[in-house]
Amino acid sequence: MRIAFHSPENYVPAVQAPEAHVDGLLFVFRGDQLLVELGPPSATPSDDPRVQSRPSWARLPAGRVSAFETQPLRDLYLGRLGEVHCHAAELPAHTPAPPGMAWQGLRTLFSVLDDAHFALAGRAIQFIDWDRNHQFCGRCGTPTVAQANERSRVCPACRLSAYPRISPAVMALVRREGQVLLGRSPHFPPGMFSALAGFVEPGETLEQCLAREVQEEVGVSVGNIQYFESQPWPFPNSLMIAFVCDWTGGEIRPQEGEIEDAQWFDIFQLPQLPSKISIARRLIDAVVAQMRGAAHRP
Ligand SMILES: [Zn+2]
Repeated sequence: MRIAFHSPENYVPAVQAPEAHVDGLLFVFRGDQLLVELGPPSATPSDDPRVQSRPSWARLPAGRVSAFETQPLRDLYLGRLGEVHCHAAELPAHTPAPPGMAWQGLRTLFSVLDDAHFALAGRAIQFIDWDRNHQFCGRCGTPTVAQANERSRVCPACRLSAYPRISPAVMALVRREGQVLLGRSPHFPPGMFSALAGFVEPGETLEQCLAREVQEEVGVSVGNIQYFESQPWPFPNSLMIAFVCDWTGGEIRPQEGEIEDAQWFDIFQLPQLPSKISIARRLIDAVVAQMRGAAHRP
């Protein structure tokens, strides 16, 4: 199974290109859209109802950022993928795509773009976003300066450094006797349910965060918390850390404004689930498969 946004094995991060204007693979964004060459629409419908039609393949442009007619707003070196240099750039809003190319949302390119390129695109969009948001010092307002030896911007007046920020978020799938607890937030597509999730607060362990989030969102208490997997999630800069746990007490009481509905679902009668791009789906699939296997044993 494909795991989205995991850094490729043969990727070597770097901040400074070995020489100016080196040719390479281009991750060019306009807002949150990536510039790609697209194949014809795929005949296979997506399992994500928000995705209308997916291209059958997509390729990144290669060459130099300076070859674009429009001057980029920012141009960052990403390092090497194998022997190939990688560059991220942002072009201004409304820049038209060059002939034969298109602007495409990153999510729709999962399993359409090469997996390694897709993963680096997730990294690239976060660096672009960070660079855009840290042009000025957050403490004194002075314009910041990009550092050559590391991915940071430093204030020349007060020396405050800004690094790309990652926000850890915990995901929890709660089990109870042949059932799993799934909820839906108001922004989900109609009918879709998923595992619960929330951001880690300063001073919390991941386990404390999980117990608090589950208690706040649905009013139940949990124990036997076991780590599952993690996944970088660049919308906008999360690291999702997924766990499975067991219900220990309480009845479901959805948190107003956060959780539209939450229910215990029989593991053989699940509702519509998130797309396979997400760790939520991997978590639910793995836990439910294990529970089904145990249920079938004599
Ligand atoms: Zn400053």
